Amino acid sequence: MIYHFEFDIAAVFLTLFITYYIIFKKGLVRHANRVYLVLILLNFLSEFSDIMSSIANNNPDASERVFQDIWNYIYLSAHNVMAFAFVIYLFFLLGFVKKKQNQMFLLTIPITIDLILLYSNPFTKLIFLYDAEGHYMHGKLFPLMYGIALFYMIFAIFFVVRYRKLFGKSRAGALIAFLLISFIPIVIQMFFQQYLLTLFFETIGLMGILFTIENKDDTISPTTGIFNRYAFQTALDRAMESNEYTLILIKIANLNYYNKMIGFQNMNGILNKISVWLEQEFTLYSCYDCGRGHFAILCDKISEETVEKCRQDTFARFEKAWGKGKFSLTFPVSFGVIHLPGDVNTMENLQMLIDAPFDGKESVEMDPGQMISEYERRVLIEHLIDKALQNKSFQVYFQPIWNSHTGKVNSAEALCRLIDEKYGMIPPDEFIPIAEQNGTILEIGRIVFEEVCRFYQEGCLKDLDVDYIEVNLSVVQCMSRNLKQTFEEILKKYSLDAKCINLEVTESATTGNQKLLFDSIDMLKEVGFSFSLDDYGTGYSNISYMYEMPFSIIKIDKSILWKAMDPKDSSGQRNAVLYLENTIRMLQDMNYSVLVEGVESMEQKMFLERLECDYFQGYYFSKPVQKQVFLDFLRVVNA
Ligand code: C2E
Ligand code: CA
Ligand code: CA
Repeated sequence: MIYHFEFDIAAVFLTLFITYYIIFKKGLVRHANRVYLVLILLNFLSEFSDIMSSIANNNPDASERVFQDIWNYIYLSAHNVMAFAFVIYLFFLLGFVKKKQNQMFLLTIPITIDLILLYSNPFTKLIFLYDAEGHYMHGKLFPLMYGIALFYMIFAIFFVVRYRKLFGKSRAGALIAFLLISFIPIVIQMFFQQYLLTLFFETIGLMGILFTIENKDDTISPTTGIFNRYAFQTALDRAMESNEYTLILIKIANLNYYNKMIGFQNMNGILNKISVWLEQEFTLYSCYDCGRGHFAILCDKISEETVEKCRQDTFARFEKAWGKGKFSLTFPVSFGVIHLPGDVNTMENLQMLIDAPFDGKESVEMDPGQMISEYERRVLIEHLIDKALQNKSFQVYFQPIWNSHTGKVNSAEALCRLIDEKYGMIPPDEFIPIAEQNGTILEIGRIVFEEVCRFYQEGCLKDLDVDYIEVNLSVVQCMSRNLKQTFEEILKKYSLDAKCINLEVTESATTGNQKLLFDSIDMLKEVGFSFSLDDYGTGYSNISYMYEMPFSIIKIDKSILWKAMDPKDSSGQRNAVLYLENTIRMLQDMNYSVLVEGVESMEQKMFLERLECDYFQGYYFSKPVQKQVFLDFLRVVNA
């Protein structure tokens, strides 16, 4: 029989194309699954030896028997191992390598028998032999080799179907299609044994896998050349479904800052170096670049000792500088270990852990448990805010402000209260910053403002000597375009003058876009509102805006009074007293009225009276209370 190896030649060209593609396509060679590369190599070896052995088998007289033998053995070894290698490839694709070691060991038995039979063939002639003219012939046990190959193929199909969820629908579909393609030549060759088609079809299958599974173009980060966030997501979906993965998160602090400091290009070079280091440190596992200087390493269950070693190695490496010369930098790093799926109950929590920025000044070990509970608390607060907005259950309390000149309570601060049936009172210091971040502060601010107006009108506050109410204004509100219009509409609805409202802006607000803030304040002043500067002295003072501050009252933060009255810290106390004395005098000389917050005792009140402070606010007079209680209080104090 004359063997036709034309298809083998075509297959060689296809394989060369695949190899070219893998090598020259940027990033691919580093990431293509190593077992896939082995498959390509075996495939090439099979094709080449198939051609050579066919030439030898077609012309037994012309060729030396040793060469004929060598090519036949190479072909049969390489081609038989391919089926086994394909099954191992599937295990690699799912990251099962360590977890299913036993199963993988059992799978080596058929191929071992196969190879023993093959290499004992020189003595047994059970696999192949030559007839009198030197023509190649199948031996008695040759069909067993087909059988073993068939076994691996059927196992592969079974495996893909069994784990189709983990593979993902499209990948499982592609794998099955390629496995079925390999069956076509077997059927054809039943009738036309002389046409060597098997390898051609197998190469087509491998090429299909290259383009559907191995082509990681869209899964490679262009900056670092390792897998990107998208690839990570796919891997995570799988990890969350199966069990016992360890996820290591390594984050460098303040990437934006360093980008500005040494430039994107140089910083990318450093990120690249970090990726190379990570891939060396975690050779066995996949490393991912999640962006913003966050890296993830996904490992199928590793021991505590290994994790500990990685932790130490990472901290040690990050103590040393990255980059060269004037662009060499050291970064604080955060190292976190998350056991999946045990440590996190939802994908959302996991995403949060991955994305939460690290902005520490020193390297730290991340505590996923604590981060998750903080995050869940935040989600809960957001939910309670939404619920309170829906049920209109936000309340407004009032805290009296004592006027030292009149000896009466001529104003009060309106303070918002979020009280939930189940969770009790949520402190404003907790929910206000969250509301500022998610924008609900606009609605909350409107509710407080309207509630104050309604109360001012209904409660006859004017008759009780209350000249105005202080309402807290968040920076977010100041930046909103229709704030003025909203306030004007509400004032109109209750037929009130803007004079009865004094708006409080915190000192920290002035550190942002000052122009925008002052424009906003000017606009509201035109309507008739006056302003107070809240939390003065908390560290944001910017002397340049002091000369033209559009405020009538400056509220000195309670921490300063408390420091001035704290006997435990004598030198701090002395300085705080000096600061208070001088600040109050200076501000009054500049024509501002001064209010001190946090007056809790008689002693504090007397001390402030000595400093001739204008307004006092604190628990000594009253805590913030509901409006009815406030009215009762007024009737007594202002009588
Ligand atoms: P703030 O504007 O500095 O309000 C004064 C805070 O100090 C209030 O806390 C008040 O209860 C507390 N306080 C007053 N006197 C004393 C005292 O003698 N001792 C002690 N220990 N505390 C005293 P509260 O009500 O918990 O509010 C906290 C912060 O939440 C407020 O600080 C303000 O920044 C914000 N906030 C409250 N309501 C609103 C609102 O309606 N809108 C906005 N934007 N922020 C609000
Ligand atoms: Ca305030
Ligand atoms: Ca304050």
